[in-house]
Amino acid sequence: MITADVAIIGGGIVGLATALEVQRRQPGAKVLVLEKEPAVALHQTGRNSGVIHAGVYYPPGSLKARFCRDGAAATRAFCDAHAIPYENCGKLIVATHADEVPRMAALYDRAVANGIAIEQVSGPDARGWEPNIAAIGALWSPNTGIVDYGAVARKMAELFIERGGVIQTGVTVTGGAEDASGILIRALREQISVGKAVFCAGLHADRMAQAFGLQPDFRIIPFRGEYFAIAHQPPDLVTRLIYPVPDPERPFLGVHLTRKFGGGFTVGPNAVLALRREGYAKTDFSARDLGASVAWPGFWRMLGRNLGPAASELAASVSRPLYLKKVQRYCPQIGLGDLKPYRAGVRAQAVARDGRLIDDFLFLQGRHSLHVCNAPSPAATAAIPIAAHIVDELLGPR
Ligand SMILES: Cc1cc2nc3c(=O)[nH]c(=O)nc-3n(C[C@H](O)[C@H](O)[C@H](O)COP(=O)(O)OP(=O)(O)OC[C@H]3O[C@@H](n4cnc5c(N)ncnc54)[C@H](O)[C@@H]3O)c2cc1C
Repeated sequence: MITADVAIIGGGIVGLATALEVQRRQPGAKVLVLEKEPAVALHQTGRNSGVIHAGVYYPPGSLKARFCRDGAAATRAFCDAHAIPYENCGKLIVATHADEVPRMAALYDRAVANGIAIEQVSGPDARGWEPNIAAIGALWSPNTGIVDYGAVARKMAELFIERGGVIQTGVTVTGGAEDASGILIRALREQISVGKAVFCAGLHADRMAQAFGLQPDFRIIPFRGEYFAIAHQPPDLVTRLIYPVPDPERPFLGVHLTRKFGGGFTVGPNAVLALRREGYAKTDFSARDLGASVAWPGFWRMLGRNLGPAASELAASVSRPLYLKKVQRYCPQIGLGDLKPYRAGVRAQAVARDGRLIDDFLFLQGRHSLHVCNAPSPAATAAIPIAAHIVDELLGPR
């Protein structure tokens, strides 16, 4: 029987930031990270847009608004302290149609309410800054940047081990129980007895909560985000990140043009219902995962409400010309031959019984445990304040 004071289940950025924070607050405690894959950061943390979000979009007062703003600063500070490269390239959110202008104005007000640096930019000015972009107006977010979150998470893992923590990879947690003295965790081949546990299982968050006796009133529905790398374009195609004005009918931010570390650009991600939780290829399918989605009443209610957007995302996923249309709205010079396949990611999105996509970060408390139930974007940016919040809840405030 393996024993520890605290176990963290899941070696993504949220789990690793939490492991470091527990160590910081309880030096000398035996802290264990259990990860089912052969290495950390192989799922959402290693397959995202790599954007340090400033916190423009989130409802004022929400956990997302607070943790994203603080997390952007904390991420930069962590990178500075550990020589991880990042770039403060800023972001232009561009309107290309008149109907987007009022939405852009509302976004500006929201950013101001969130205390985020934001500027309104005229169409001619935006086109002057970025000559290859079509825009009738834009918002400029100077505090948006790019980083490799896989590298951030691997550095967190390295520091955790240096400070005496243990990461066991290849350990799939299957279930367990809590009693008055602590938690018994069952994995495929071993049992682990711990005082406290934090579940940061991303795409498997609902299963973990159920496997430990909780009755979560949501299910994780996986949404694949497909990207293309841009070929045959000049290295100065754009010098900033370019985002569309988000469509309030759609839950995600829209296909954006992102500069990558080491040069080049990607466009993406779209948002297509995935038939497997870790299904990165279009053909990936799991009867268990699909069965879990369709058995959840909220899945059908969500689909009913979003039939139009869901159909259009699916169409753009199977038809490259339709995908291209989304990009050409703001960058007309990108052509079909410029789109090269690039690795996809799958978002873990919690959906409530009534079909609502749960927007804010969500946590569920067990007797000696905390389950991170909804940590979609911007949780990579926000991981460090999320970890502080988790440890406050688990061990009491600092
Ligand atoms: C396409 C896409 C684009 C995104 N873009 C951005 C962005 O630009 N900026 C941003 O801030 N955020 C972005 N995000 C969101 C961000 O990537 C996630 O919010 C963040 O990585 C969540 O981290 P996590 O640790 O909760 O989950 P994960 O990284 O998914 O980690 C969960 C871990 O738990 C492990 N696990 C699961 N079940 C078990 C089990 N039973 N036993 C043991 N281990 C288990 C998994 O193997 C995995 O390693 C994006 C996400 C996607 C998918």
